[in-house]
Amino acid sequence: MLIDVEPLRKILELEYKKGYADSAVIGGLDRFLRNWAGQAIESITNPHLLNRFRKLHLINSSYASLTEQQRKQWINSVLDFLAEVEHGGGEKGGAKLPPLASRRSSKARKQTAVGNQSIDSPVTVIRGISSTLATKFNKLGVNTVRDLLYFFPHRHLDYSQRKSISQLTEGEEQTVIANIWQAQEIRLGGRRSTEAIIGDETGNVRVVWFNNPYLAKKLPTNTQVVISGRVSLFNGRYVFESPEWELVEDRELIHTGRLVPLYPLTQGLRPRQVRKLMKEVVDQWAWQMEDFLPYPIKENCDLLDLPQAISQAHYPEDEAVKAQARVRLAFDELFLLQIGVLSRKRNWQESQSGNRFGAQTPMLETFLHSLPFELTPAQQKVLSELLSDLGKPTPMCRLLQGEVGSGKTVVATAALLVAAANDYQGAFMAPTEILAEQHFATVCELLSRVGHEEEGEGYLRRYSGLLSHPLTVALLIGDIKQVGKQELQQRILAGDVDIVIGTHALIQKDVEFQRLGVAVVDEQHRFGVTQRSALRQKGFNPHVLVMTATPIPRTLALTLYGDLDLSVIDQLPPGRQVIKTKWLKPEQRDSGYVFLRRQVAEGRQAFIICPLVEESEAIQAKAAVAEYQRLSREVFPDLKLGLLHGRMPAVEKDKVMRCFRSGELDILVSTPVVEVGIDVPNATVMLVESADRFGLSQLHQFRGRVGRGQEQSYCMLLAENPSQVSRERLDIIEKTQDGFQLAEEDLRLRGPGEFFGTRQSGLPDLKMARLSDVALLELARNEAIKLFEIDPVLDKPEHHLLAKELARVWPTEGGEWS
Ligand code: ADP
Ligand code: MG
Repeated sequence: MLIDVEPLRKILELEYKKGYADSAVIGGLDRFLRNWAGQAIESITNPHLLNRFRKLHLINSSYASLTEQQRKQWINSVLDFLAEVEHGGGEKGGAKLPPLASRRSSKARKQTAVGNQSIDSPVTVIRGISSTLATKFNKLGVNTVRDLLYFFPHRHLDYSQRKSISQLTEGEEQTVIANIWQAQEIRLGGRRSTEAIIGDETGNVRVVWFNNPYLAKKLPTNTQVVISGRVSLFNGRYVFESPEWELVEDRELIHTGRLVPLYPLTQGLRPRQVRKLMKEVVDQWAWQMEDFLPYPIKENCDLLDLPQAISQAHYPEDEAVKAQARVRLAFDELFLLQIGVLSRKRNWQESQSGNRFGAQTPMLETFLHSLPFELTPAQQKVLSELLSDLGKPTPMCRLLQGEVGSGKTVVATAALLVAAANDYQGAFMAPTEILAEQHFATVCELLSRVGHEEEGEGYLRRYSGLLSHPLTVALLIGDIKQVGKQELQQRILAGDVDIVIGTHALIQKDVEFQRLGVAVVDEQHRFGVTQRSALRQKGFNPHVLVMTATPIPRTLALTLYGDLDLSVIDQLPPGRQVIKTKWLKPEQRDSGYVFLRRQVAEGRQAFIICPLVEESEAIQAKAAVAEYQRLSREVFPDLKLGLLHGRMPAVEKDKVMRCFRSGELDILVSTPVVEVGIDVPNATVMLVESADRFGLSQLHQFRGRVGRGQEQSYCMLLAENPSQVSRERLDIIEKTQDGFQLAEEDLRLRGPGEFFGTRQSGLPDLKMARLSDVALLELARNEAIKLFEIDPVLDKPEHHLLAKELARVWPTEGGEWS
């Protein structure tokens, strides 16, 4: 076989890299092909190959008039053909094609020959990555070739502005290509350094690299060098100080003269080394990435192909393509996330039918009329949403958001009553025992007005008059005596208890219900799939209502809770007090303490949130202990202080909170990790240290701990040395009491990562997508919904790759897609 397939293959690969824009050869691919084919045909003797060759119409190709998708298919078929030619092609008729990975470039073929290397092989399969280097990458979470391809630079330096030396201006990033006249080691400020003089046809310029004497040897006289960086003025002359450099050795620029990637680095990884490595990896492997996105979606959303997006995200041709690459990769993340959450929702709602509950209007009316207040319009709206869900045969899956004090508990209680009236049981779960107790007290309070209380044991109450049987409410926490607990569990199993209130352990541990109809989960953001499947394993498919006081902007909610329907109580009951909020400058700290002391003297109580310490919970706890001691000794020696931190055993935490609630303590010093969710109506002061380091939403949560009683309440925010942005934020929280507005501001000012890490939510990581990508998120969600309509379980052949990808990013799903 005499045809040289290499030039054509190179061109086709270039064409693919450039996105099938018919830009790989000047004059267009068709002209090149005609020429190439004209020569090639003379040397093809094998009739099978000749036949294949004719079918490709290389001599009269019409590439220019094909659509992008057609171009792609066609190029792939030509590449297949070339591979066949190279392998001596089909002597026995139907020659077996080598596997995809080995078809195209000879480099890649060499690699695959070494073993069964794939995109999921460990990084050590890459030439130049030793096991020592691999360990360093592993530390960054990069284990496989695929991880490397998805190891994106955090930004790019724009070294694409090429100038001649005479055009250089001070301070800007610019690139020159010049000849090295001389490079030598010199001493600069006592340090061994390198100095070079370089020049082009317009002039010469000096370049210095501090602390790097060895560079001199790498810059031979009379070679061409590319220098990218800023120039500064030194003794009236321009000089490049420690710029990026590379020799023009007839190859593609990596470090200079273009958009140059900056990678997140760990100890022992050098930027130049990583860049060089990444370039090789991208060039050799990116095109092997299978594009899992169905073609119609790509077309409809105008997205780049995956391999192209990956290589452009690393080494972009220009800013515009870089932006397109990001869009494609961000779309992938959001789309996969949406398919994941939607399919979870579908599983939950359709795989098992739920229980349809009648609205029980008379019973509800009785209950609502007995309340000392009227529901706000927002509460009414949410209640009707809940009733409509409960009336459907598919189990409810709803997230209820509402500020602290917006009245979620009443609404949830109504849902639990509906279950009870339909002869089902309800569970009401809180994150801590003390909060469970609080809910028990609240629910009993609400019911005591309507029902006649029959029995009054501590943890079990019965109310007659509302249902046809006495309504039984129980509190199940670790605190109650073992005997009582067993008896209670038996009653729950016997269906003798209508509403059980406890911690989240209720549904996970040893409690067995007879007929669980509604589960209300308070203040847990991550009541997710795991918990729901725990319920299901017990044979229940209850309606689930998750409640949170953390305001979550819509984009975030769709991302994190796309599998839940959303309800919002967006108004507070009338007459709620505004908590007076003020941020104090460092010199006002003492006046803050004086104010707090005066409130305590008037019989009130106060919270002090300790400074935020970054590192570990252990260090945080230590710092809290220190702050507690400082305050006890130096500032409030005459007052009673309590301490709360995450390292304390749960029993101890509960004890401290109880002491505070009962008024035995004046001040509760707490770390921010401890979400002090308790209702202490007598607490009127919240003082937050290093307030500039918290998100607005978090500050708002802290603030919500006070103002729960009749007395005017106050929130004081201390900030030692706030930046401009921090000042802006502190100003906003002073003026705004609206949690949603604050959450949106958080997103705007701090970015989504800090607002609410997706990592902790057990969802796939978002690297490229930003939560401010509202339009892209909606697009991804709509495409996911559309796809679901055509192929809900993704078993059509054209969705095979997508199913595989989903199984990869949502591994917990247990192979549902694969
Ligand atoms: P959340 O759980 O949303 O923080 P709660 O349900 O605990 O709020 O309600 C806070 C307080 O407001 C409770 O004392 C409750 O009785 C009261 N409340 C609830 N709804 C109303 C309303 N519509 N009008 C007046 N007070 C209300
Ligand atoms: Mg509440």
